[in-house]
Amino acid sequence: MSRVLVVEDEAHLAQGLRFNLEAEGYAAEVVGDGEAATDRLLGKKENFDVVVLDIMLPGKDGFSVVSELRAARNYVPVLMLTARGRPEDVLKGFASGADDYLAKPFDLSILLARLQGLLRRSQWIRGAASPEANETRVDGGGVGDFGTFSFGGKTIDFGVLELRSGESTIHLTLMESELLRHLVRNDGKIVSRKQILDEVWGLKEDTDTRAIDNFVVRLRRYIEDDPGNPRHLLTVRGVGYRFLAKPERG
Ligand code: CA
Repeated sequence: MSRVLVVEDEAHLAQGLRFNLEAEGYAAEVVGDGEAATDRLLGKKENFDVVVLDIMLPGKDGFSVVSELRAARNYVPVLMLTARGRPEDVLKGFASGADDYLAKPFDLSILLARLQGLLRRSQWIRGAASPEANETRVDGGGVGDFGTFSFGGKTIDFGVLELRSGESTIHLTLMESELLRHLVRNDGKIVSRKQILDEVWGLKEDTDTRAIDNFVVRLRRYIEDDPGNPRHLLTVRGVGYRFLAKPERG
C-alpha cells in the first residue's frame, strides 16, 4: 500500500482528499502546515511514497518545505498544489525541487492520475535500482532503459537518480531524471515542449510549457561545462530542445 502525506491547511479539502485517497487504496495522512510536514518527513525518517503539498500554508510555505527536503537529500516525489493563474508559482515550485504540480481547484480524478504517474515512475526506478532486477547496463554512449548513460565525461545513473562527473555526484529528482531519460532516448532528435509534456509528464491539457524551460535550465547546470553556452542540451528556437550526446566540433 502506498503512503501519501497530504500537506494542506484547508481542513475541508484535506479531509476530502484523505477520504478519497483511502477509498482508492492509499494510506493517507494529513498535516496542516509546513512545519509539521518537514517534521513528519525528516524528523522521524518516515517513509512516504509521495507528498501532496499545498503552496499557501500558514508559516513555512510549500516552496520552503520542498527546498528543505531536497537540501536534506530527501527525494520523495512531490506534487505541488498551486493557485490557478500563477505560472510563477509553477516555475518556483519546480525550481524548489517539486516533481509535478496541479492548479487548484482540481479534478480529483486528475490528482489521482498524477499521483499514480509519480508512484509508477518511482517504483519502476526503485525496481531498476535493486540488485535482483534484470538490469541492462549500457555504458559508453548507448541508451539504457534502467542502466547508465555516459556522455561528455559524465554518467547518468537512472537506477539511483544520480549524475556523476569526475569526483562529484549530483542527485536528480524523479522528474529531472525522467526528462533527461527522454532527451537521451531521443539523442540527436528535436523534441517539442508539447511532446515532453505529453510523454514525460503525461499532460495532455494545455499547460504552460515554460515549466519545461525551467527544468532545462537546471539540467544544463548539471550537464554542461558552460551552462550559458550549452553543447549537449540545445534550444531549438520556437520548437523545443535537442540533446546531443556527442556534439559536433566547431
Ligand atoms: Ca492553503
